[in-house]
Amino acid sequence: QVVTRFAPSPTGFLHIGGARTALFNWLFARHYGGKALLRIEDTDKKRSTQEAIDKILEGLDWLGLDYDEPPVFQSDRAARHSEVAYKLLEAGHAYKCYATSEELEQMRAEQRANKQPMRYDRRWRERDPADAPEGAPFVIRLKVPEHGEMTIDDAVQGSVTVKNAEIDDYILLRADGTPTYMLAVVVDDHDMGVTHIIRGDDHLNNAFRQMPVIRAMNEIEGGWPDPVYVHVPLIHGSDGAKLSKRHGAIGVEAYRDEEGILPEALFNYLLRLGWAHGDREEITRDEAIKLFDLDGVGKSPSRFDIKKLLNLNAHYIREADDARLASLVAAEIGDDADEQILTEAMPVLKTRAKTVHELSEGAAFLFKKRPLEMTEKAAELLNAETRARLGELAERLRAENSWTIEALEATTKSYAEALELGLGKLAQPMRAALTGTTTSPGIFDVLVLLGKEESLARIDAQAS
Ligand code: GLU
Repeated sequence: QVVTRFAPSPTGFLHIGGARTALFNWLFARHYGGKALLRIEDTDKKRSTQEAIDKILEGLDWLGLDYDEPPVFQSDRAARHSEVAYKLLEAGHAYKCYATSEELEQMRAEQRANKQPMRYDRRWRERDPADAPEGAPFVIRLKVPEHGEMTIDDAVQGSVTVKNAEIDDYILLRADGTPTYMLAVVVDDHDMGVTHIIRGDDHLNNAFRQMPVIRAMNEIEGGWPDPVYVHVPLIHGSDGAKLSKRHGAIGVEAYRDEEGILPEALFNYLLRLGWAHGDREEITRDEAIKLFDLDGVGKSPSRFDIKKLLNLNAHYIREADDARLASLVAAEIGDDADEQILTEAMPVLKTRAKTVHELSEGAAFLFKKRPLEMTEKAAELLNAETRARLGELAERLRAENSWTIEALEATTKSYAEALELGLGKLAQPMRAALTGTTTSPGIFDVLVLLGKEESLARIDAQAS
């Protein structure tokens, strides 16, 4: 059975890179009918916060990524991590190191001076612990094989080989008995039964430090198979540099709140960011579960492209249920909004919006109170001449019995023709009078959405 996990460190919001990692893990598990698990890596107590945990859970939930078991909190498992460190110690795969911080500092200074790689020099690897002063503090370090090399067959990166000599005898258990991140990850992945580790390729180096623990434990007690590693190239900004805050690498909830993105659009966008199925751009959640595989994961970094995200969002807005969009827009507009009116207007509003914010902007005219506040540009369109025309037009529209797009268009056009004016010359001041702005849905849509009474009241208010 396939088991994947998403293992965020709760030190900030769920950013785009993390969300994509979560998505790939989730899709892979769902595609194979396996288990998708979540682990909160909260061992760094100074940097982990409850607020970050809540934001991550909320972001995952919003994206529709559900998990088959309650989240595992890494900090709850310290006793188990330490148990494994001692098993490694007893079996001779790890050793106690009594080096003091002054000694290590001096070692590093010498390495720096000699331009050697800065790495623990294994000074306690062969030394008798009895050499250490009675009761002296110690850390437990992994005993990495000195010779030979290690190869990882990564599902994306291919076969990668590193010489064992390049891997340091890193710390598994600190002097205060707390496990290091490197140990905790391996033990948790094993205990959770994780078969496929899908994560950013910034963790590829860690895999070479984690694998020796897995192999040693397998030697000691069996039942520690190599996981399949899947190191996915990172996301870059549009300028090709690694994605960072500078690029607006914001949290998932900011895409919802600040950008007005729908979750299915972000889902689709993240899927396409580093994974492809032919040249298909629009892929729904159900299709994604059917199609997702590791062959489609790209081997080079993908570039974040906000335009693509907005285009997908526009697509999903057009596909979305009107009542659902109405409730999102009503929440943005506030007390003045009426969901019923918004739902009726939505087929018109949603044809032109790329974000929920644009929907709200487009819908705002529906709820404006008379006298309408005018934007500067709208006010400029209203002068003695155009106000007089609006008065004439209002009389013709008042006589209109059927308040439909076709009838209103015919009436307005015939008046424009009588004036030998282009329709636009008439429509722009109408738009100003009806909406207080210079951009809105089509002018006849606006008339229909507002209804006869309100439309005439707004035109009358500006007409002379
Ligand atoms: N907690 C790590 C991170 O947020 C991920 C560890 C892993 O996936 O192995 O970068």
